[in-house]
Amino acid sequence: MINYKISIIVPCFNEEGNIKVLYKKIKEVLSNYNLEHIFVDDNSTDNTLNILKKLSSENSDIKYLSFSRNFGHQNALRAGLEYATGDCVISMDADLQHPPKLILELINKWKEGYDIVYTIRKDVENISKFKKITASIFYKLINKISDIEIKKGAADFRLLDKKIVSVLIKDITEYHLFYRGLISWIGYRQIGIEYIPNKRFSGKTKYSLFKMINFAISGITSFSTKPLKLAIFLGLIISIFTGIYGLYALGVSIFTDTTVKGWTSVLLSILFIGGVNMILLGIIGEYVGKLYMQSKKRPYFLIKKTNIKI
Ligand code: UDP
Ligand code: MG
Repeated sequence: MINYKISIIVPCFNEEGNIKVLYKKIKEVLSNYNLEHIFVDDNSTDNTLNILKKLSSENSDIKYLSFSRNFGHQNALRAGLEYATGDCVISMDADLQHPPKLILELINKWKEGYDIVYTIRKDVENISKFKKITASIFYKLINKISDIEIKKGAADFRLLDKKIVSVLIKDITEYHLFYRGLISWIGYRQIGIEYIPNKRFSGKTKYSLFKMINFAISGITSFSTKPLKLAIFLGLIISIFTGIYGLYALGVSIFTDTTVKGWTSVLLSILFIGGVNMILLGIIGEYVGKLYMQSKKRPYFLIKKTNIKI
C-alpha cells in the first residue's frame, strides 16, 4: 500500500447507471493506493442517492453528499473539494468519459512535483459535432476577451495538490464558480496532459444547450469586464452614423420639401438602436446580477443527506 491518500470527487446528477461501474474501474486502476471517493449527488431525481447509500454502507472508502436542490456541477465540485481529505484530489465526471486509467498518469505528474495536472480533451468521434463546434467557439471567445488563457478542451478532470485545494476553498470566495478559469488564474506549477474521451457510458448529457450558454456567459463575465466596454464602442459608432445621417436629414428638410417620406428609415433606426440597447442592458445586467448575488453571501450548496460527520 502506498502511503498517500488520494481523494476522488465525482459530481453526479442522475447518474444511476454509471456510479457502480466508475467506482469499480477506479478501484481496479488504483488498487494499491489509499483511496477516498466523494460522490456529490446534485439532487438527482433518479436512483443515484439510493445507490450511493447502499454502496457506501458496503464500502468504507465511499463518502457521499446529497444537495437539497440542484446547485450545478461547479458547486458540486466545490463541495467535493471542501470535504476531501487526501494529499491530492482528483475530480472527474461520473459518466466514464474521463478514462479512469489516466488517473495513474495524473498521479505520476503530481509525484514529479506539479501542483496542478489538468487534462485536455482531444476532439475525436466520441464527441458530438455540436459539442465540438460550441466548445471551440467558447474557448476562442474567452481567450480573446479575458486575461486568462484556458486551453481548448480543458475539462473538469484534473488533479490538485492539497495546497491548491486549500487555496480554492479559503482564498477563492466568489459566488459564481468557474473552475477552468480559476485554475488558469491561480498559477502555481501546472501541466496538462491530453486524453481521448470515451463515449458517455450510460444516460444522457446533463448539459443542455441552455445550460451550456449560461455556463459560457458566466465563465466569460467572471474573467473579463471587456463586454462592458462594448457599450462605449457601439455608442461611438452609432453616434458617428447618426451624426452623418442627421446632417443629411437636416439638409433634406432645409433644401427640399419631401420630408414626410422617411418613415422606413425612422422605423429601422429606432428598432436598431432599441435592439442594441437591449443587448447592452443585458450585458450590464449580467454584471449587476453577479454583484447582487455575491453581496448576499449565500452558501454554495446545502446538504440534505450525507454519511460524512459534519
Ligand atoms: N452534473 C452535475 N450537476 C448538473 C449537471 C451535471 O453534477 O447540474 C455532473 C454530471 O453528473 C457529470 C458531470 O457533471 O458527472 C458532467 O456532466 P455531463 O457528462 O452531462 O456533461 P458533458 O460531458 O456532456 O459536457
Ligand atoms: Mg459527460
